[in-house]
Amino acid sequence: MIRYDFTGKVALVTGSSRGIGVATLTAFAKAGATGVLHFWDDPDGGNRRDAEALAKALGGAVHLEPADVREAGEVEAMMQRVKVQFGGLDILVNNAGIIRDRTLKKMTLDEWHAVLQTNLTGVFHCCKYGADILRDGGRIVNIASIAGLLGFHGQTNYAAAKAGVMGLTRVLAKELARRRIAVNAVAPGVIQTAMLGEVKADVQAEYLKQIPVGRLGKPEDVANAILFLATEESEYITGHVLPVTGGWA
Ligand code: NDP
Repeated sequence: MIRYDFTGKVALVTGSSRGIGVATLTAFAKAGATGVLHFWDDPDGGNRRDAEALAKALGGAVHLEPADVREAGEVEAMMQRVKVQFGGLDILVNNAGIIRDRTLKKMTLDEWHAVLQTNLTGVFHCCKYGADILRDGGRIVNIASIAGLLGFHGQTNYAAAKAGVMGLTRVLAKELARRRIAVNAVAPGVIQTAMLGEVKADVQAEYLKQIPVGRLGKPEDVANAILFLATEESEYITGHVLPVTGGWA
């Protein structure tokens, strides 16, 4: 990893108990930040147990916060707890997301809404209530996707949500510029996480053929880009979408 120094900063990463989120939270914690590990508190408590074990492994500088990003009230309450605990927030990474792939002909309205509510409305909630507690000079990094740039077969819901995240990012960058808060998006390509496990092996093989650097991405590849966009030195970059795709997009 690139060596960053986020000492004294508070960084909240949504969906940070696995995948790209955990790589990002770990990188922030290793670079000296206080990490806020956000997770969805599912009814059987499995996610909470995983999050607690992860926080323990990462050491004392990680604070746990549950919220369902689809629920405005839960997100608002989480942000207010962070404000009480830390006096505010410096970095917000909106990473939580799901896929429910199916061709449009077969896609149900529930599958459409599930992806839009988590991947787009969830980002809206976190930006809205997160901006209230972000300190001036803070950073928002939204996780979009190559799918929102190129459009992949079977992903009308996902591509629409991720393209929406890019539009939201460009507008919010303008709205928050007066507070010196930079708002950017990272658009990962095909990254090796649990989410990729939901994609068929033959489709993954087709993806690989499209990647000029010849390998799938690692969560750390995305985390590096996110951390760069969270630095003080990147302050003049705002409203931008940064592809992290091994040259595909
Ligand atoms: P994972 O499936 O590994 O992790 C997704 C995270 O989102 C989990 O921590 C999950 O929490 C959380 N989450 C899902 N729904 C909710 C919810 N309603 N409320 C709160 N948290 C929720 O995915 P990845 O790490 O692969 O993906 C992370 C982001 O990167 C996503 O936005 C994804 O769309 C994007 N991306 C991924 C790519 C890839 O190839 N992997 C490519 C391009 C973009 P929990 O574990 O508690 O359920």
